[in-house]
Amino acid sequence: MAQKLFAANWKMHQAPADAAAFMRTFTDQYARQQDRRVLFFPSAVALHVVVQAIRERADLEAGVQNIHWEDKGAFTGETSGPLARAAGARHVLVGHSERRHVFGETDAETAKKVVAAFRSGLTPTLCVGEKLEEREAGETLTVVTRQLRAGFQGIEPEKLATAIVAYEPVWAIGTGKTATPQDAGVVHVAIRAELRAMMGERGGAVPILYGGSVNRSNVDALLAADEVDGVLVGGASLDAEQWLAIVRSA
Ligand code: PEP
Repeated sequence: MAQKLFAANWKMHQAPADAAAFMRTFTDQYARQQDRRVLFFPSAVALHVVVQAIRERADLEAGVQNIHWEDKGAFTGETSGPLARAAGARHVLVGHSERRHVFGETDAETAKKVVAAFRSGLTPTLCVGEKLEEREAGETLTVVTRQLRAGFQGIEPEKLATAIVAYEPVWAIGTGKTATPQDAGVVHVAIRAELRAMMGERGGAVPILYGGSVNRSNVDALLAADEVDGVLVGGASLDAEQWLAIVRSA
């Protein structure tokens, strides 16, 4: 049975002390379940705390929210893949909509970050998703397919098969609006087809997460949608009780 993935994106929240308290509550109350993995994406300053909190738990994993495409150098303010890996990260988010639309990250830059992630031994979660005006113009699948192809360009199928994809419609992130399970399913099915086109049968095993205002009330319906293998959650992952309810769902 394929494992479901529950990924918490804490964005620019949770200081180290808050992260430590959160992880104490979480690890005390959440017992390992064979059918799921839980991923945490804290801010870089809280990564160490999370890594320490999960060191005895193979079902819990940590990652960073972004990396630079270079391994080292004079890039003030940036974190590289090797630095993140050495600090205990196993995963990295690439191309989150806030990186794309707040910080102007391009498709070409996401591609370089995916390469850097694999080079550093990090599993990239490539985030794709359309803006509201793109959805309204009927361009959802065009945009998502373009971001997917660009982000994974030039990566060998064996490596790609270990990546994760997150479909996050931009209009649903942090807005309280979610795609309906049917709308999410249509996009997830298209992503699955594209992944199979890129890497053959292996494309069937790449987890595709849904993200965008997921909470304890809507998570079951979204996880039941076609080709939804898990969720990437921002706001609702900041509260330990709500996060516990989400990861216990379905
Ligand atoms: C996200 O940050 O990836 C996200 C989906 O945020 P939210 O759950 O708050 O919409």
